[in-house]
Amino acid sequence: MRHFQIPAWGEPLVEAHTETPRPQGSEILLQVEACGVCHSDLHIWDGYFDLGEGQKVTLDSRGVALPFTMGHEIVGEVAGLGPDATGVALGDKRVAYPWIGCGQCPLCLAGDDIMCATQQYLGTRVPGGYSDYVLVPHPRYLLEYDGIPAGLACTYACSGLTGYSALRKTGDLTAQDHLLIVGAGGVGLSALHIAKALSPAAIVVADIDPEKRAAAEAAGASLTIDNSQPDAVKRLIEHTQGGPKASIDFVGAPPTTKFAIDALAKGGTHVIVGLYGGALPLSLPLFPFKQMTVRGSFTGTLDELRALLALARDGRIPQIPIESRSLDRANETLEDLKAGRIIGRAVLTP
Ligand SMILES: [Zn+2]
Ligand SMILES: [Zn+2]
Repeated sequence: MRHFQIPAWGEPLVEAHTETPRPQGSEILLQVEACGVCHSDLHIWDGYFDLGEGQKVTLDSRGVALPFTMGHEIVGEVAGLGPDATGVALGDKRVAYPWIGCGQCPLCLAGDDIMCATQQYLGTRVPGGYSDYVLVPHPRYLLEYDGIPAGLACTYACSGLTGYSALRKTGDLTAQDHLLIVGAGGVGLSALHIAKALSPAAIVVADIDPEKRAAAEAAGASLTIDNSQPDAVKRLIEHTQGGPKASIDFVGAPPTTKFAIDALAKGGTHVIVGLYGGALPLSLPLFPFKQMTVRGSFTGTLDELRALLALARDGRIPQIPIESRSLDRANETLEDLKAGRIIGRAVLTP
């Protein structure tokens, strides 16, 4: 099998050829049809996440060994079955749920792998889809996506799921409420589409990039705003008559979090999703005065992915722009993503 691997943290990926693994036990070998390139791949590539104030969490400390094959938005065809793998057949086309835990504990058995202390996440802890084959530990992590183009279906496993799960954490919003989405990259744009399908609230999108704001406007944002402007908070509060009732930050940098919290309405909920990194001093009296909730969300559960795929299959979510590229262009694609040159999602095909 052929992979594009990180040889050393932050170094360009190199092509490697290894023996295609034979699935054991309940494992399934998936022949990769497409794999999305996610913003978090940039952090994995660097080998760390920035916690702010000089603190980092490194992939080394999480036991990720080099060379490493990234790629967690995977769609493919079943090409091999372990002796205990049931419920799928050779040739079946499936999306892989990548946020896999130990598979044994009560959390995992309830579908809350994402809360499990043992992470076996495809493409972020164990080898992923920048490859022509990937091993998935159990058939329950493979979901049908019939009726959805493969290049789009794979993006639901992270960018779509992340947006969907964050939206479910904003609480119930009415047609009188505003929802603020900060960051209109792949995940933010995808969340905007899903929010349009799920929520009656008016949706405001903030991004510093005019092209991304234009994409958000085209996708139905009621207002877009340049959050780098000094009057951005004031404008947003005026437009929403008191601030958005909920906000989701798909960037997760100190200035974006501050912008969203400063604008948030009383009783509002702010959800931090983006992993840009950094730290921020927060005025503690704001929490009681505004009666606000600040919480985090990391991707989503297996059931949420199933529900999201059903919504997409019903045609209720407009497609984000997908650019399909050969796996050979993995390095160039990561560079393009880093430089903000990708609108929607780039998807690699082996
Ligand atoms: Zn991702
Ligand atoms: Zn577990």
